[in-house]
Amino acid sequence: MTPKIDQFLRSEAPATPCLVLDVDRVEENFRRLQVAMPLARIYYAVKANPAEPVLSRLVGLGSSFDAASFEEVEACLAAGAAPEHISYGNTIKKEAAIKAAFDRGVRMFAFDSEGELRKLARSAPGSRVYCRILVGNDGAEWPLSRKFGCELDMARDLMILAAELGLDPFGLSFHVGSQQIKTTAYEAAIAKAAMLFTDLRDAGVQVRMINLGGGYPVRYRSEVPEIDAFGAAIMGAMTEHFGNALPDIVIEPGRFIVGDAGVVSAEVVLVSRKGEDDPVRWVYLDIGRFGGLAETEGEAIKYTFRTPHDGSEEGPVTIAGPTCDSTDTLYEKSNYRLPLQVESGDRIEIMSTGAYVTTYASQRFNGFAPLAEHYI
Ligand SMILES: *Cc1c(COP(=O)(O)O)cnc(C)c1O
Repeated sequence: MTPKIDQFLRSEAPATPCLVLDVDRVEENFRRLQVAMPLARIYYAVKANPAEPVLSRLVGLGSSFDAASFEEVEACLAAGAAPEHISYGNTIKKEAAIKAAFDRGVRMFAFDSEGELRKLARSAPGSRVYCRILVGNDGAEWPLSRKFGCELDMARDLMILAAELGLDPFGLSFHVGSQQIKTTAYEAAIAKAAMLFTDLRDAGVQVRMINLGGGYPVRYRSEVPEIDAFGAAIMGAMTEHFGNALPDIVIEPGRFIVGDAGVVSAEVVLVSRKGEDDPVRWVYLDIGRFGGLAETEGEAIKYTFRTPHDGSEEGPVTIAGPTCDSTDTLYEKSNYRLPLQVESGDRIEIMSTGAYVTTYASQRFNGFAPLAEHYI
């Protein structure tokens, strides 16, 4: 909660549910990350929050952008980003979208398969391409399993093929999963990528860039290491494995840039119990899984709540959303507690909801409008 958001909620009391995001905090986070990793070029992961005020502030700060779709490429361009500062980082792209991005001047693309590489060779000829390798996601509270990336042997062959197809085999990338709380995840991934740099050099391919992906965590219910600890671990591993022949370093933070810049303001719709003596109260809010809190799936991301009664006696709760779907239960197993005085009509705040919330809201499931957004 920033003072600006607090002030806005008090003076405006905007209709709930809504996200209020302090764009100055986005700038602070960007600068903190620059200080922690001065040698890295920041490509903001647009999918975390693609709102125009966020993108244009970052353009002003000299950020580059990691786009997941042609629509996000267009959003970056509309916010004033130069096409040479946009990387089309999704390894799964329609060929028409590749061509559209190429026509708008984008020249950096990710891939992790031969099929995608051939699309790039046809529709983005001569572009810089980087191969995403599979790395462990251990330590990530929002892991990505094996959906993206390929094994080292395959990456090696594909980088050689990229050159043969007339593309520029520019770099290697990985992503250690989102809300990654272990600095060692980056160290292990860097070691893996460094081996491939050496193999490729021996094969005559000079790789010039390493993309360390995103994952840098935000504080939700539990403490996480400071960003400086990630910077130190990452630079230590880079120096250990590359010596003073450091390649260009790219990072793709999403959550870290916008997560703690935003707060969802919500209303308690109902407080009830399932039996007279049941100690657990059910607290239903006017926002749930379908209103944008998708990352509560599996209770993976554990948001904290602020109520008007904080500091008074608390009791156990199950927290749920307003729709007629049982999966719209946010926290049942994570031992949440809220003040006993919480009652329907109360306004409550869900903290650090600036990332991966607005765009996850459904289109009128049960008739509810997508989440309102205020950028201040
Ligand atoms: C989602 C994503 C990111 C951003 O991840 P955060 O955890 O939000 O920092 C970065 N790179 C890639 C490839 C991604 O898919």
